[in-house]
Amino acid sequence: MNLIEKQKKISSGILMKERIITYEDCRKNHAASIGKYAVDGCCEFMPAGEEGSHGALKCAACNCHRNFHRKVVHQFLTYADCSSISSTPK
Ligand SMILES: [Zn+2]
Repeated sequence: MNLIEKQKKISSGILMKERIITYEDCRKNHAASIGKYAVDGCCEFMPAGEEGSHGALKCAACNCHRNFHRKVVHQFLTYADCSSISSTPK
């Protein structure tokens, strides 16, 4: 009995969930101190630094923290059909 084979069979032909997270328009209220609401108009978060670096959470366009940007989670369902692999005669 082969455990790896068994795991392969379980994972074949299942629905795979894929998640992509993007950060869109900036919602930081720049006029909060005067009791008004005004955003900087930044439409999409662009990291100011590389992944894992200090600037990765800062927007290069508006200089705001990533948390101020609207988080959008894109979910995809992909069907992983591997049944043809196991039924292929050798
Ligand atoms: Zn901003």
